Formats: sequence, C-alpha cells, structure tokens
Amino acid sequence: MKTEKYRVAPGKKVKLSDFDPDDELDGDKSAWKAHFAASSERLVELQELLYAEGKHKLLVVLQAIDAGGKDSTIRKVFGPMNPQGVKVATFKAPTEEELGHDYLWRVHARAPGRGNIAVFNRSHYEDVLIVRVKNLVPKAVWSKRYDHINDFERLLTDEGTTIVKIFLHISKKEQKERLQDRLDRPDKHWKFRKDDLAERARWDEYEDAFEAMLSKTSTDHAPWYVVPGNHKWARDAIIGRILVETLEGLDMQYPPAEEGLEGLEIPD
Ligand code: ATP
Ligand code: MG
Repeated sequence: MKTEKYRVAPGKKVKLSDFDPDDELDGDKSAWKAHFAASSERLVELQELLYAEGKHKLLVVLQAIDAGGKDSTIRKVFGPMNPQGVKVATFKAPTEEELGHDYLWRVHARAPGRGNIAVFNRSHYEDVLIVRVKNLVPKAVWSKRYDHINDFERLLTDEGTTIVKIFLHISKKEQKERLQDRLDRPDKHWKFRKDDLAERARWDEYEDAFEAMLSKTSTDHAPWYVVPGNHKWARDAIIGRILVETLEGLDMQYPPAEEGLEGLEIPD
C-alpha cells in the first residue's frame, strides 16, 4: 500500500470531491484486515521503542465531521499500545477559563512529552472549522489562524515533535447512516446530540472549511493525510501504515545498556 496518495502536498489546493471516501480496494475486506493486523503488531513494537528511547515525541491529530470515526480509530489503532506512553486529548467546546486565553493555550498544554504519543481527538483545527462555520469569531480573527497554526506546528517540530495529521473523510450518506444508528441503538444514544443535525445541515460549509484547512496547513513538517473513512477496515489499515512509516522514519534505538552488565547473573 502506498500512503503518499493520501498525503496532501504543501500548497496544493484541495477539493474533497477528488478524494474517494470508499477507496478502490473497498471490496477486499480480508486483505485490508490482514494489512492492519501486521501494522498493528509493528506499531506496538515501535511505540515500546519510542517510550524506551525517551527521545522523540509524536503528535497525531485527528479531525473529521461528526460521526467521522475519530473514537473508533482511537480504539482500534491506539488501543493495543502501552497506555503509559499514549495520551489522548479530547477537545470539546472551550471552557470559560480556556476562552480567557488564546486558542492555542489549551492545545499546547496537551502536546506530547519525550517518549510519548499524544492523540488529539479534535484539536486547534476546530478554531478554523466550527468557529469559522458558526461565526464564533469574526472572519478577520479566524482567517489569521492558519498562519498561527503553521507557526505553532513549526515550533513543535523544531523542538523535536513529529506531527501527523489525519482527516477522516466520510460521505454525507455514510454520516446519515452512522447518526441514524446512534438514534436507533439505545447503547449509542449517549453519542447523539440534537446539535448534530444542525451541524449536518451545514455540510457544504464544513466541506469548504475542511478544504481551506487542508489547502493552507499541510506542510512538510506537519502533513495532512486525507484517509477514506467510509470503511473502517480500510481506514484502520491506512492509518496504521502511515504511523508505521512515520515511526520507522525516526530511526529509533533502544538505549544502550549500563556498563558492566556482561556476565552478570541474578543471585538466588
Ligand atoms: P462524536 O464525533 O463521536 O460525536 P465529538 O467529538 O463530536 O464526538 P461531542 O461532545 O459530540 O464530541 O462534540 C464536541 C463539540 O465541541 C464539537 O461540536 C466540536 O466542534 C466542539 N468544539 C471543539 N473545539 C471547539 C472550539 N475551539 N470552539 C468551539 N467548539 C469546539
Ligand atoms: Mg458529536
């Protein structure tokens, strides 16, 4: 599988209609599943190494429309890892205290430390997505944020963080099915908010906001990947592969043993 095709080249003007939320291999479920199983095993090893080496930091940003699959991606892809080294940060509507600061304040505080992976379930990109679509601040304010975000991510990468940004791309029809499922199944009611319908009605405005985000903030240091999200097995396999490639690119090593360990035996 080639992951480059999902990667947004810096400066490219993205039209989401050019990306297929089903992807072409969608019939071959078992092949995708086997692919994911292999990546998943490798990811567990790589995360152990990242944690043991204690040098690198990995930030994975997940963005999607409502019901886009952020939660299940986190469960499937990051669930098997050692929880000591993985921190999930979920960004909901800001609190009063958070609103009293600049929008990156709460985000910077959740960036990963050495040896850790931080997974952002939503992120600073909400400040150019829902904020833009619902006019929560004037255009003069949100339009400057793309540059801030590129600079902020540059700061993080200059200081040793690796950043991967994943946009889960589902179709409007798939969202309808998933939201309907949340209404039909009592065990999923907790995930449904009436607001989701108002948000769905703004689908086209969200598409514009996602396209602007992808076009303006995919950089060499912090690339976006548009991952087809309609089929969970394909989605997981692609994300797994992207993360394996990213972590393998770090050329990590287990820390050297202390001197004088040769021949040591543990006494009875
Ligand atoms: P799911 O996709 O499974 O429904 P969720 O991430 O939507 O989960 P919710 O509690 O339903 O979780 O929604 C969180 C809400 O918080 C989203 O509507 C999101 O847009 C909003 N939000 C996040 N960050 C901001 C922000 N900076 N400003 C305003 N709203 C925000
Ligand atoms: Mg929601």
